[in-house]
Amino acid sequence: MPRKPARSTLEEVPLDHSGLVRGDVGVFNRQLMHLLEASQQGYALFDGEDRLRFANAAFRKALDVPHDEFPSWLELMRNGYRNSTGTAIETTDFELWLRSAKTRRGKLPFRTIETSLNDGRWILTTETTLPGGWMLCVVTDVSELGVELRDLRQERDRALKSALSDELTGLGNRRYVMDSLNQMLGPNKAQALAVTIIDIDHFKAVNDRFGHACGDMVLKDFAARLSAAACRDDLVGRIGGEEFLLVLSGSRMLGVQAVMQGLLSSLAQASPLGDMPDFRYSCSAGIAFANPGESASDVLRRADTALYEAKNTGRNRFVIYEAVS
Ligand code: GH3
Ligand code: MG
Ligand code: MG
Repeated sequence: MPRKPARSTLEEVPLDHSGLVRGDVGVFNRQLMHLLEASQQGYALFDGEDRLRFANAAFRKALDVPHDEFPSWLELMRNGYRNSTGTAIETTDFELWLRSAKTRRGKLPFRTIETSLNDGRWILTTETTLPGGWMLCVVTDVSELGVELRDLRQERDRALKSALSDELTGLGNRRYVMDSLNQMLGPNKAQALAVTIIDIDHFKAVNDRFGHACGDMVLKDFAARLSAAACRDDLVGRIGGEEFLLVLSGSRMLGVQAVMQGLLSSLAQASPLGDMPDFRYSCSAGIAFANPGESASDVLRRADTALYEAKNTGRNRFVIYEAVS
């Protein structure tokens, strides 16, 4: 029998639907890695959990990441801020800054961000994100480029950020989450979502008993715990005084009960008022699953009905709409 010919090294291997590799994929991968490593542009890949999985020398130098470390994006930012290396972060409340940045990170298929580094250089970062998956960051040194319009661009970025963020908690504001939810649903959209409205229990009494400033501390504590429970792909925002929205999509959707159980347990441990270590608070939540193509207002109405049920059956719990009799 004739032997099967070895695979030609000039075979053209499709890369998904658009790209083609001419030749052996293994050779291609090795050459690509060598080229990325040699490039003066910074390249980094983050996985769906937002952990660094690859960074070339230029990226590691810019962000001050040791060659054998693979931190999560949160750790990367925290280390940089602590050591005054990497991205220059000007804020009086770093955790608020981090929450705000996390809320908007990886939500668009592609975005560009211009920032300064603590070593004085200016960089332009592009982020390309696959739905529910990995992110490619490309960092270019633009210290010499377009200096005269830099202030204007920074001003624009700041205005854009404050138009979408809630000032007190750093989470997305009502406009941001509603616009995002509308984009995730609507005609021609294929994905199903778990939409959760969360409301802090007896919050008025916190204000009445301890004052508005203490109420604000509880809101910030809640936002930090909600943000910690969320992954990069989740949509999180404050939609009213003490009302929040959490939207889980893709593989996260069916884990919504575990996420909410984790949040309730986290709140049970919380002691947000330093002067009153025994103070505890809780929240109630209503969950509804959105069908592709339906309107945001329909699914929010169902989530609200479930929330009402959670409030009426004792609070400190979540109810899924299907379970409402
Ligand atoms: P329930 O368990 O039924 O949700 O009761 P509740 O007291 O949490 O609900 P209610 O809607 O009666 O009260 C919400 C309160 O939230 C009233 C409002 O003064 C307060 N609030 C809204 N925004 C803020 C804010 O930014 N800071 C503070 N401290 N309080 C706020
Ligand atoms: Mg409320
Ligand atoms: Mg409430």
